[in-house]
Amino acid sequence: MSGAREAPIRVSEIFGPTIQGEGVLIGLPTIFVRTGGCDYRCSWCDSLHAVDSEYRDQWLPMTVDGIWADVTRLSGGKPLMVSLSGGNPAIQPLGGLIAHGHAQGYKFALETQGSVAKEWFADLDVLVLSPKPPSSGMATDWDAFDDCLRLAGNGPAIALKIVVFDDRDYAYAREAAARYPDLSVYLQPGNHTPPPPDDDDARVDIDGIMDRMLWLVDKVAEDRWFEARVLPQLHVLLWGNKRGV
Ligand code: SF4
Repeated sequence: MSGAREAPIRVSEIFGPTIQGEGVLIGLPTIFVRTGGCDYRCSWCDSLHAVDSEYRDQWLPMTVDGIWADVTRLSGGKPLMVSLSGGNPAIQPLGGLIAHGHAQGYKFALETQGSVAKEWFADLDVLVLSPKPPSSGMATDWDAFDDCLRLAGNGPAIALKIVVFDDRDYAYAREAAARYPDLSVYLQPGNHTPPPPDDDDARVDIDGIMDRMLWLVDKVAEDRWFEARVLPQLHVLLWGNKRGV
């Protein structure tokens, strides 16, 4: 294995097996590799421990071999789906990890906001592109987003996932979906209550999330937007914003 010669991957946490809590793979048994660092600062980010440089000293520079030892131990050697998340995992050198895991029968899903494109996107099994709506405070670079799609090509299954808090976010989601009519679309009611990252008992406003979910379901039904699927974050309903589940 050549992992030791490759650039290290900054890892915030590796955990599982658990279920994928959102989007196209919801409910699927999954091992998570969460990388550290992000080029965005969304106002409602629920993963600040993998974003804010304040937590940088908790991100371990790991080789492919080191990450893989954890993945195989957690999965008991059974080739599960490995979800590459962050932060923005696209800023890490993950091509070698994907090739290594594929050789052992594992599959890889990656979620990114679509701001950084990599050649190795083509090697993924699932690519979830999650452009951030106005409530995030971030502006979408659609040229970079298009680059992500171009480099992914026909390799992975690709889905759009958009968090929606309000009417402006909903309008943004409609525009994004219209821009990419061939992609499946997942809408997710926003979670307004990011906890302090070290809070192990991270409660969230479940009533608020469910109110937003009902509002969103009504919106897509009224608009006859039948291509969109509306899903909550299952892991948030089960465990709040707790880390490592
Ligand atoms: S892109 Fe994702 S990880 Fe990065 S700041 Fe926004 S919500 Fe957090």
